[in-house]
Amino acid sequence: MAKKSITEDAQDVMRAAILIELGARIQVLESEVNLSRDRMIRLYQEVKGVSPPKGMLPFSVDWFLTWAPNIHASLFYNIYRFLTDLAGCSHFDALTKGYKLYLEHCERHDSYIMLSFTRAWTLVRFFDAGILQLTRCCTCTGKFVTRKQDAAHGAVCGSCQPPSRAGKSAKPVSRVTEDEAAAECSPGQFDAMEELNSTLSNCADLEPARHEASCGQAA
Ligand SMILES: [Zn+2]
Repeated sequence: MAKKSITEDAQDVMRAAILIELGARIQVLESEVNLSRDRMIRLYQEVKGVSPPKGMLPFSVDWFLTWAPNIHASLFYNIYRFLTDLAGCSHFDALTKGYKLYLEHCERHDSYIMLSFTRAWTLVRFFDAGILQLTRCCTCTGKFVTRKQDAAHGAVCGSCQPPSRAGKSAKPVSRVTEDEAAAECSPGQFDAMEELNSTLSNCADLEPARHEASCGQAA
């Protein structure tokens, strides 16, 4: 590992602690901060009081394209792009502050937290790799997450075109913090989805993003 100053080292420790607080896995830390694996594990234990979970990260692109996760992913990524493109934030700040804003939004609208921090980080990686893009919904004009090669013309987001069973159950909205446990959204969570969707529409006036394909015009 390259020799670094005490200040740089302290910054890396602080950044790692912020990431751990938000729920980042060790693999995320390895990508975002310059600390030895041993120190990261010790820091994780100090911050969380438990050992970091083992196993692979969630890596499926398809997860972000299913109905409810797509709405959460679209909300987070719109915030992330606003922070990087218009507010001048670095990737690290946009990722961490953007995720906190996403949590606040879920809290305010009494919605569950479907997107874990590690998922949010993975989402940004998929965009950076050119696998996903933002596409403008032809109905609400909000931008939502689609595959890069998907046709942008006539695209309609999940909120404007929910599955037929959505909203037909009286099941109360439940909060989940581990997205792995929430691969599917229960129909009772539809109202919270509508709240998220109105936020996506409010994001519609943002400047075009790098990965965006506007309605009727492929990227
Ligand atoms: Zn829409």
